[in-house]
Amino acid sequence: MLQQGFQNAPLDVIRDIATHLDLKTLLALTRTCRVTRSLVLDPTSAAIWADIKAREAIPMLSSGVLTDVEFARLVYDKTCHCCAKGQANKLDFTFLIRTCAKCWNKK
Ligand SMILES: [Zn+2]
Repeated sequence: MLQQGFQNAPLDVIRDIATHLDLKTLLALTRTCRVTRSLVLDPTSAAIWADIKAREAIPMLSSGVLTDVEFARLVYDKTCHCCAKGQANKLDFTFLIRTCAKCWNKK
């Protein structure tokens, strides 16, 4: 019931809620449904990402190497970039890659 209510919420309300989230939660919001994903990833939502960058003071977000959502995935997504399995706890900011221990030891 709550999920249906959220999906039926006006986009302005969802966008307003998104402005109060942290980066990890905003990334999770992109995975809730196609509507919120499109809304949050739309270029018109750039201010939401900019506000989070300012609040969380993550310098890599302004590097221009990765998009904001790519950076959020690098930091918070636990999928290995090499084997696509979960439990990827090794993060290399030089190569901007996240791997599991097994793939990490292969490099
Ligand atoms: Zn792996």
